[in-house]
Amino acid sequence: MYRKTWLEINLDKIENNFKACAEICSKKMIAVIKADGYGCGDSFVAKAVIEAGAQMLAVSSLDEALMLRNEKYDGPILILGATDPIDCNTMIESNISAAAFSLDWVNKIIKQNPQGLKVHLKVDTGMNRIGFKNLVELKEAFEKLKNAGCVMEGIFTHFCCVDSNMQMTLTQYHTFEKAVKFLDYPFEWVHCDNSDATVSFKDDISNACRLGISLYGISSYKKDLEYPVSLYTTVSMVKTVPSLETIGYGATYQTNQDEIIATLPIGYADGFIRANSGRNVYVDGDYCKIVGRICMDQTMVKLEKKVDVNTIVEIFGEHINIEQMASDLNTIPYEILTLMSDRITRKYIWHNEKFEETNFKLIKSNNYSIK
Ligand SMILES: *Cc1c(COP(=O)(O)O)cnc(C)c1O
Repeated sequence: MYRKTWLEINLDKIENNFKACAEICSKKMIAVIKADGYGCGDSFVAKAVIEAGAQMLAVSSLDEALMLRNEKYDGPILILGATDPIDCNTMIESNISAAAFSLDWVNKIIKQNPQGLKVHLKVDTGMNRIGFKNLVELKEAFEKLKNAGCVMEGIFTHFCCVDSNMQMTLTQYHTFEKAVKFLDYPFEWVHCDNSDATVSFKDDISNACRLGISLYGISSYKKDLEYPVSLYTTVSMVKTVPSLETIGYGATYQTNQDEIIATLPIGYADGFIRANSGRNVYVDGDYCKIVGRICMDQTMVKLEKKVDVNTIVEIFGEHINIEQMASDLNTIPYEILTLMSDRITRKYIWHNEKFEETNFKLIKSNNYSIK
């Protein structure tokens, strides 16, 4: 790591969070590690959740699934999102399970000779994103896929508001239950619970849960999870700026006395979005305000006292809660995590030790040549 801006990711805490949730639901566990493991590095998060007992990994696309195969994971992978039927053979060859989500998809995939393709039927119970809403269509899809030689591995749905509306969750659940009972088939995987439902919703029909955000300590219901991810940067320059000067692009901040200003090597291109301007970072015991506009690669903060160059600055972590940060920014922790760009070095702790330090951008740049 050359630029001192990094995410610290404690895989032990991810494992603890996994186990704490798995214990409550006592079903098979699918770890959702889409979007590069919510920005934390899918291969590393995968290592942790597999050790903790995950029986299946779920991702959003075939690209993400193949990345896991490239990373030598040979266990079950489910693609939760839409796939292109054209890629049927790639999914079969790589032993990757697909979501069957519309009759259009089914009609196209059966033309691709899907013998051996593992399929999870997606039931739309109210999210209105992807999936079958109609029992007759669902049955038709089931029969067509089965007759074409697909492995009818699973059936699932997705709740839209477990954190805010349990009544709607129940209604969705009943719709799902009806669909599962209607098909009356011994699916190996029947799943409807996301993280929040895993710890708050009991049901008789599902045999697996899909755990995502709670791996990162975030839950509407389980408040004793640990936060495994912290974002740090360091001070690259400190100076005293005289009264009535301005800071940064657009000169939006003006000093009204001598002010100690530190510059940090992090900016919006790292996923530290401009809306963070005016919020605090944590520097050597003090909460310090971000002044002026956040630049692409750098940010200025007003310090309470002079500190040395290279002093560590916490963006979120022990002193600045990621959920509070999300609420300040009018968003959700998912977005903060997944925005962290691959320019930021990831430092991992595993089994109570420094495990690995990696910069995905540096690794990638070895594989692609400009010439
Ligand atoms: C992202 C996703 C999940 C995981 O949701 P969390 O709220 O992070 O637990 C589960 N299922 C589906 C279909 C998803 O898209």
